[in-house]
Amino acid sequence: MMKSINPATGEEIATHEPLTPAQIDAALDRATATSATWRTTPIAERTALLIALADAYHAHRDRLARMATLEMGKTLKSALAEIDKCVAAFRHYAQAGPAMLDGGSIPLAAGGKADYVWLPIGPVLAVMPWNFPYWQVVRFLAPCILAGNVGLLKHASNVQGVAALMQEMMGVAGAPEGLFQNLPIRSDAVAAIIADDRVAAVTLTGSEGAGRAVAEQAGRALKKVVLELGGADPFIVMPSADLDAAVKQAVTARVQNSGQSCICGKRMIVHADIYDAFLDRFSAAMAAVKAGDPFDPATDMGPLSSEEQRRTVQEQIWKMQAAGATLIGGEALPGPGAYMTAGILTDVPTDPALMGEEIFGPIAMLFKAADIDDAIAIANTIPFGLGSSVWTTDEAEEARFVRDVQAGMTAVNQMLASAPEAPFGGVKRSGHGRELGPFGLHEFMNLKSVYRA
Ligand code: NDP
Repeated sequence: MMKSINPATGEEIATHEPLTPAQIDAALDRATATSATWRTTPIAERTALLIALADAYHAHRDRLARMATLEMGKTLKSALAEIDKCVAAFRHYAQAGPAMLDGGSIPLAAGGKADYVWLPIGPVLAVMPWNFPYWQVVRFLAPCILAGNVGLLKHASNVQGVAALMQEMMGVAGAPEGLFQNLPIRSDAVAAIIADDRVAAVTLTGSEGAGRAVAEQAGRALKKVVLELGGADPFIVMPSADLDAAVKQAVTARVQNSGQSCICGKRMIVHADIYDAFLDRFSAAMAAVKAGDPFDPATDMGPLSSEEQRRTVQEQIWKMQAAGATLIGGEALPGPGAYMTAGILTDVPTDPALMGEEIFGPIAMLFKAADIDDAIAIANTIPFGLGSSVWTTDEAEEARFVRDVQAGMTAVNQMLASAPEAPFGGVKRSGHGRELGPFGLHEFMNLKSVYRA
């Protein structure tokens, strides 16, 4: 049985019965059958469905957003923004997508040519997390539909209500049965699905542990896998930066979604010349962040997604304190609900094992860098490399950051946020492959070469 528990109250919202092996088998048969027809549909039919999905999400915006807030505690205003972003992604792939499917032609030195075309690959399994429970799925689903593939979703156990609503939206939009199937299953059922010949490929967003398990299973089955695994992103501030803007965005980066975002700055690395000024303003702004009822429009930050998640964050804090770090704020609030206040850890030893921890909560680590080399060294001394944010008005410094910060994404003088048009993904242990833009679409397509005289 999978339980949805409201993290703001600790109350059980619903229970969800996992599918039986026979039900999973029937779902895979349906996926195979729908794949055989959907792969031949005209592109206009696929884009019409994407538009219908955008309309469905827009029309059911409030209901969808409320379920996310209930199941994982994000503020209602941020849940609404998440639905709007999903609408934008469906529309983006409907409008810009057809051109992404254009093939091309390469003349061959020996004579003749190789044309190339983009073809679907079949049913793709998506294993998805709870932190942006609609957006993480839509950034897989929208290109999946456009590609002519079909989707299977194993969503996180705590957001099965969201998963069921996503299935419902496919019906509202008039999608063929089997084009996208929510599989309410626990993670121990995933390996057999990956191994099944009816599944072509797998994509996962989540923790390093889940990524390792799924990549291993995909490797054994010799199937394509895209992994988006988070990390401990650097947020580097140099003396030339607009300090007020940097502080403001550093706070938003660290507390949005109660700190449970894979790409937001988690390690603030500040040049020694401005470290004290940054710390003064940052600690005041973090202390002013209002944690409370996620349905209240005045709330900045709801609870963490579960009691266990809060406990995990507390244990990470205690480990860092034991290693010499100092905590400012970052207290668990008494009473029901997985609430905690925003906090800062200073004096964290620059040990990759410690500062490489992905703190999935509203706690920033703050580091003092002697110069740009030191800042880049601190940024890179961890096994992860997803996003990064760099603050400087010096062009030479900016160029160094772009070249040398080991990350899949760098935002300049702004906090990092994903966009439907731009490639999204990481390097090192943050995963491999890309989502979004044409790159995410092409990850799960067969680039076929057609040789002609
Ligand atoms: P997980 O990575 O465990 O969950 C993500 C998804 O993977 C869920 O659908 C989960 O299913 C599934 N899953 C977990 N283990 C396996 C497995 N062995 N085989 C197949 N599927 C699996 O995230 P958690 O909720 O446990 O969060 C733990 C930590 O992960 C967080 O503190 C954070 O550091 C990180 N995380 C990072 C995210 C990101 O966006 N990069 C998103 C979420 C978490 P089920 O829910 O049933 O276990």
